[in-house]
Amino acid sequence: MEQTEETLTCGQCRKSGTFTAPVSVILLFAPGLSKPYPLIPAEDYRVCGACDAIFTLVNRAADAHPTTRQAGPWSRAIIVFADGHGVDVKAKRPQQAVALA
Ligand SMILES: [Zn+2]
Repeated sequence: MEQTEETLTCGQCRKSGTFTAPVSVILLFAPGLSKPYPLIPAEDYRVCGACDAIFTLVNRAADAHPTTRQAGPWSRAIIVFADGHGVDVKAKRPQQAVALA
């Protein structure tokens, strides 16, 4: 199957060609959750790697689920992609996103 990622353009920074593989799961950490809550996107969702678009993704995902919405603002999220890569982000310091792989 052909990849179409070169046609994706980021809505925030307007760059293309820096998108991740589709998101497999978002593990959400929040003070109101006793353990990380796994959020699985309903459709293929690729994230721009050139800006902080991943925070928008986590915010939207957390907002979309009653459990995480009620848990309050998320503090940390681990996003795992279909290619096995992952990123670990902390809510309060968006510039500190660290690539795990
Ligand atoms: Zn971007």
